[in-house]
Amino acid sequence: MSNVEEEIKSLIEELNVHIHNYYVLDKPTISDYEYDKMYDRLVELEKQSGIVFPFSPTLRVGGETLKNFKQFEHEVPLYSLDKCQNFDDLRSWVEGIKKEFPDSTFSVEYKFDGLSIVIEYENGVLIKAGTRGNGRVGEDVTAQVKTIKSVPLSIPYLQKVIIQGEGMITLSNLEKYNKIATEPLKNARNAVAGAIRNLNPKETAKRNLDLFAYSVNYIEGKKFNTQEEINSFLIENGFKTSNFIKICSNADEIIKIIKQVGEEKSKLDILMDGIVIKLNEVQRREEFGYTAKFPKWAIAYKYEPEELSTILKDVVWQVGRTGKLTPIGIISPVKLAGATVSRATLNNMGDIERKGVKIGSRVFVRRSNEVIPEILGIAEELPNSQDVIKPNKCPSCNGEVSEIGANLFCMNVDCPEQVKDSLTHFCSKEAMDIEGLSEKTISQLYDEVGLKNLSDIYNLSYEQLLKLDKFKEKKANNILKAIEESKDVSLSSFIYALGIKNVGAKTAKDLAAKYKSINNLMNANLESLLEVRDIGDIVAESVYNYFNNDKNKEEISRLFEKGIKIKENESLIESYFNGKNVVLTGTLSSFSRIEATKILEKHGAIVSSSVGKSTNIVVYGENAGSKLDKAKKLGIELINEEEFLKLLKNSSQN
Ligand code: AMP
Ligand code: ZN
Repeated sequence: MSNVEEEIKSLIEELNVHIHNYYVLDKPTISDYEYDKMYDRLVELEKQSGIVFPFSPTLRVGGETLKNFKQFEHEVPLYSLDKCQNFDDLRSWVEGIKKEFPDSTFSVEYKFDGLSIVIEYENGVLIKAGTRGNGRVGEDVTAQVKTIKSVPLSIPYLQKVIIQGEGMITLSNLEKYNKIATEPLKNARNAVAGAIRNLNPKETAKRNLDLFAYSVNYIEGKKFNTQEEINSFLIENGFKTSNFIKICSNADEIIKIIKQVGEEKSKLDILMDGIVIKLNEVQRREEFGYTAKFPKWAIAYKYEPEELSTILKDVVWQVGRTGKLTPIGIISPVKLAGATVSRATLNNMGDIERKGVKIGSRVFVRRSNEVIPEILGIAEELPNSQDVIKPNKCPSCNGEVSEIGANLFCMNVDCPEQVKDSLTHFCSKEAMDIEGLSEKTISQLYDEVGLKNLSDIYNLSYEQLLKLDKFKEKKANNILKAIEESKDVSLSSFIYALGIKNVGAKTAKDLAAKYKSINNLMNANLESLLEVRDIGDIVAESVYNYFNNDKNKEEISRLFEKGIKIKENESLIESYFNGKNVVLTGTLSSFSRIEATKILEKHGAIVSSSVGKSTNIVVYGENAGSKLDKAKKLGIELINEEEFLKLLKNSSQN
């Protein structure tokens, strides 16, 4: 080998280690700058010498656009997975296996929702990659798959091996891509399929895909005993696998995991749509064999989908308490994550234009557990689709509409929808918590009794309530009782209840912690408001304007005349952690995990167990593992024990 050849080889080896550290282990050991320098040197040498090894990372940029896809014939046919929809089916499947082999165990894994890919290696080098197609013939996507950084171009295992995995895009990468893309992608699965089945591999490279490997479909010179061994083999050979693989010995254990994952899956950074259960003992699998379509030794439990496509029938504009007009998509009803959804938000006009959504078209709708359903984007533009028209009058009062930023606002303070919505907001759980005064009841009271000001609620009489549709003695009395009880309220709930523009529950808590009394808050000037944590110009100004408006001031004193009393609340500490989503990881020497959680909660934090996009802070101790790595990757604020103690101390002294 020539000197140049040797240098090229050693550069490739080193670069491949760094790619693996970064994209598979999430643990980079050199800076981007150092990496780039090495990479540039390799490009230069390859160009000079014309030597490009098939496992060179320079091949990952994509290369030439293909004319068409070549066929990819599967040496080992690919099967689909049998599905079960309920736990009874799962139990009888487990029983069937146990009948043959009572001591069987099961591997329990995520069912990734991406694009299935098969990759062949010979002599330790990636030879070709294909999509599943019909299971016998797919499409050759070798050039595309080579751009996926978590796919090793060379592996230590030197004999022939065929692995299978799922091409994926993380939701955070999709979000990043969409921020700069001219055409945003609506759904992670389609983003992956579109990227891999793209004739221009340079486009594939741009999407920053991942591949999670989960099976070895063929191997020469080696036999596996268990799925765990397969998983270890994949890891040793540099593949990214899901860190989630559990071994269970009975149906109860499997079901427990299915339920757990079901609750947490909306926090994951990837799309998954179920759990795959495989007989762990590989040698026994052949005993069970295959149907025409499925292996009998594996089964998938599918969760109800969180994302589907459906027809957008209409867009209506809803007026909120601040006058903001929100477009709501009326859709053909679909079942998503346990609920029937027939309305989904489109955020604002800018959002509609960006997503290219049209009435009469097929759109993607997403609903995960706690979030309101949202229209993600257009799936298919059908004939006769129509543009959504920007309203120039308020749909509730026909009043003037103004465009402020990306949003439209009704400027009429007496607008019925605005008034009703601010009353509803005032009564809501996190505000004055008046059970029974729902949106519907409020609307009736507005129409029939003339309920209008917040303080009018405290004038409501038994007779007035009885007049309403479907109201009996008991219901009326319950509401009167709830109204009475609401008078004892915490400062933060009261501030929130007022419905000040841009003041949500968290800001209300911050304001309460800083000012301690409503009078202090009402007298606060702009400078002082700006000192409140997380409050910027816009919020400070709307708080200031609200309390310097005579009508609002009168209304607040009327509320107090009706007997509202602010509760003393000692546990409110003005804290760095107030309202933040915090995850603890590793061992702290000063507290147990439970103690630390309690303290954080007292400081107003929401403590959760897994790191996701909504995490604000990760507090880490000794031996922190994957959560810390993930937080680093997502760019989440990291706090060590020393800093943690300092912040707690500073907060408590305030
Ligand atoms: P289906 O296409 O719904 O019949 O499901 C079978 C597909 O699930 C396979 O072809 C794989 O693409 C995919 N899959 C996702 N995760 C896994 C996993 N952990 N093990 C096996 N297959 C999986
Ligand atoms: Zn209006």
